[in-house]
Amino acid sequence: TFFSGIGAASRKGILVKGSNYLEALAQVDTIVFDKTGTLTKGTFNVTNIATAAGVSKDTLLHYAALAECGSRHPIATSIMEAYGSTPDRSELAAYCEKSGRGICATWQGKEILAGNARLLQEAAIPFTENEETGTKVYVAVDGTYMGCLVIADEVKEDSQKAIAELKKKGVSQTVMLTGDSKAIATAIAKKLGLDKCFAQLLPAEKVERLEELDAAKKPGKKLAFVGDGINDAPVLARADVGIAMGALGSDAAIEAADVILMTDEPSKIPEAMNIAKATRAIAT
Ligand code: ADP
Ligand code: MG
Repeated sequence: TFFSGIGAASRKGILVKGSNYLEALAQVDTIVFDKTGTLTKGTFNVTNIATAAGVSKDTLLHYAALAECGSRHPIATSIMEAYGSTPDRSELAAYCEKSGRGICATWQGKEILAGNARLLQEAAIPFTENEETGTKVYVAVDGTYMGCLVIADEVKEDSQKAIAELKKKGVSQTVMLTGDSKAIATAIAKKLGLDKCFAQLLPAEKVERLEELDAAKKPGKKLAFVGDGINDAPVLARADVGIAMGALGSDAAIEAADVILMTDEPSKIPEAMNIAKATRAIAT
């Protein structure tokens, strides 16, 4: 029976790695979502380029593009689109991606940082935080603040439907974890009707929050985590049911996940739970 449940799920683009996960899906009571690319479209647009005094927009965007051209993060994609071409990478060296923070790269011997406030704060670089609505990418070169790119992401229309459906199905807690700012997290949580949200988390802190939620779940119930696979493989691996979503998923995420959604629609989750529950009803 569980095999036929797995078959039914796969025909809907929901790949379940084993019957134990289908059974666990039927008992999910807490669902934890990653934000970027999971609840939001993850296709950002640069909406403002706010330069520091004496810096041109072109210079700022060029530095940002140099830092971001090697990253697969949705933020990086949007910056490359705003830049409009591929920068000359021949003098680019010592590239490193600091998950949950941003990028550090060396170009012509200068150190470029591009990422969130935390990245610059940790490097002790003085700057003023931008108050506009959106995700901010702050840029600094050799310890000097150059400016900030303001980036807008949109909530997927399907997210709202999915959360409402999960509540109807009796899921008692929906939660969002994000590395993004509190302001963004609170606005999205309110819009979607999520029960809780935690912001400014590094990947390791996402695992900690997940463990706390896991310890607090009702006896006999399961916790699911849903992510797009960018920076969240450790959380996917830690959940009772790790659900990886969409085409962006990295190999590491597909490896770490228990359930893989072929499309990036959160509403596939209540659908998967329906199949799991129906299968369970037949099996028992
Ligand atoms: P989320 O938790 O929303 O899925 P991530 O964990 O992928 O987001 O990233 C958290 C934060 O780290 C982002 O909101 C951004 O501020 C920063 N960040 C991550 N990767 C990059 C990047 N390539 N360029 C700039 N900032 C980044
Ligand atoms: Mg993410």
